[in-house]
Amino acid sequence: MPELTRRNFMKFTAASVAAAAVADKQHVSADTGDADKAFPLMTAGATSAYGLCHFCSVGCGIEVKIKDNKVVSTEGFPDHPINEGTLCPKGRSMKELANSDLRLTHPLVRKPGSDEWEPISWENAMDKIANKVKEVREETFSKTKNIDGDEVTVNRMDGIFSLGSAEIDNEEAYLYTKFNRALGIHNYTHQAEI
Ligand code: SF4
Repeated sequence: MPELTRRNFMKFTAASVAAAAVADKQHVSADTGDADKAFPLMTAGATSAYGLCHFCSVGCGIEVKIKDNKVVSTEGFPDHPINEGTLCPKGRSMKELANSDLRLTHPLVRKPGSDEWEPISWENAMDKIANKVKEVREETFSKTKNIDGDEVTVNRMDGIFSLGSAEIDNEEAYLYTKFNRALGIHNYTHQAEI
């Protein structure tokens, strides 16, 4: 192997750039080198939609490419002031949230004693969650003693922990805090803190 000098490094780099430019212009197949067997870009003909990555609180801008009603690519949005076109692997792989066969599209419930998950309706799931919150809330309200030594229940409970979302803005975070306090939940935080 020839010694890597500054001069032949520059020559090699220039040759590589020139070859890449020619290949790009001719759209040469990466496998065969045949111009007529070149494969099209997977995003060719796709439309774009813009949004935010919801995995973490950084809030990177995402350009979603859609073709035949399917998400074919998620890329960083170059004009977004936060990420300027970059994405971490989580944001880059976000298309799998829409396309994965493992994606859940309806709520499931595992009944007591059962080892199977069964589909239920959204209404049913919401009712179950609301009833459970009410049950736990009533069971775990804190007790304290008043000035006369009598035990009293106070509007504070330890039975529920609440975790906010990286997707919500300042105003929504304010409402989230108010909602928790109204329920008596004092163990809560925001996903951005994690
Ligand atoms: S792309 Fe990565 S850093 Fe940006 S919001 Fe998503 S998870 Fe966070």
